Amino acid sequence: MEVPEGNYTISALIDKAHEDRAEPPRPHMGCSMLGHPCDRWLWLSFRWAVVEPFPGRILRLFRRGQNEEATVVSDLRSIGVDVKGTQDRVHFGSHVSGSLDGTATGIPESPKTPHVLEIKTHALKSFEDMCKNGVEKSKPMHWVQMQVYMLGKDLTRALYYAVCKNDDRIYTERVRLDAPVAVAAIARGKRIATDDRMPPPLSTDPSWYECKFCAAHDFCHKTHLTKEVNCRTCAHSTAKPDSTWRCERLDGDDIPVEFQRTGCDAHVLHPDLVPWKMLESPTEWDAMYEIDGKPVANGEPDVCVFGSKEILANPKACASGDHSIAGYREHLGARIDG
Ligand code: SF4
Ligand code: SF4
Repeated sequence: MEVPEGNYTISALIDKAHEDRAEPPRPHMGCSMLGHPCDRWLWLSFRWAVVEPFPGRILRLFRRGQNEEATVVSDLRSIGVDVKGTQDRVHFGSHVSGSLDGTATGIPESPKTPHVLEIKTHALKSFEDMCKNGVEKSKPMHWVQMQVYMLGKDLTRALYYAVCKNDDRIYTERVRLDAPVAVAAIARGKRIATDDRMPPPLSTDPSWYECKFCAAHDFCHKTHLTKEVNCRTCAHSTAKPDSTWRCERLDGDDIPVEFQRTGCDAHVLHPDLVPWKMLESPTEWDAMYEIDGKPVANGEPDVCVFGSKEILANPKACASGDHSIAGYREHLGARIDG
């Protein structure tokens, strides 16, 4: 047996430090996602219903990509290209927005035309495929992202700048605006973001290549059960076309993003995010799910109603009808947590 790596090596500690300060899921429907082939994935990720826990090594890779942006901008400036707006955002409404790497003017092939700048780092295989096939074919999500940014900035050209992480080779490609593609991608993002119901899956085959590597593989092909309790997985929330979120339970009030991340005790699991049949509920603010053939009330916990965290922690215990559990809940205010 190989000796396993200890938890206290330098690399393990650094990775853990990155994991501890990982960014929470983004609040908006990012333009970088609009070329993703699966409507369901866009919905699940925007709703924070499946949250991908990236290991520290991958978080460091993301950081490397971000750090490369400053290097590339500096290199472009060194040859006389004027790069502006490296923090610019574009907003399309209905939760769809994104951040540009910049706008570049003075590109040798077309010095007077401002270009949306998109910078990406690639591993060797990906870089070589890019050199062979071009960005539209090799990385369609990057291509759609640039289309959307061009429309958002009212420009007709983009400069795609790829760097190979293995040997620092550079690949650049000028991309022309395809306005119908951009318009359709934005409309799709808005439709999915404001849809109350989960879209169908890209494939029902668990071995489908795009599903195999998807963070929602277990959800779509095994459990059909979210692990996340936040306002966006709650049946009482609505993503509004004005890019805010409303809670019906709180008299239709807007919910601030930071509050959405934890929600409140009255959380009710969205019916598309559980595998159970929904039964008629006797109250306005609770849901009734059939778990193990028994009705289980889900809402603000009391003796007969189970909170979403309790149901996710142990659905069988919630459905068991066990008198001792009911007694602990009633007399001690105990809650199921595993
Ligand atoms: S597993 Fe497949 S169907 Fe499910 S979200 Fe991912 S890509 Fe879509
Ligand atoms: S009921 Fe609570 S968890 Fe649900 S949307 Fe409203 S504030 Fe969020």
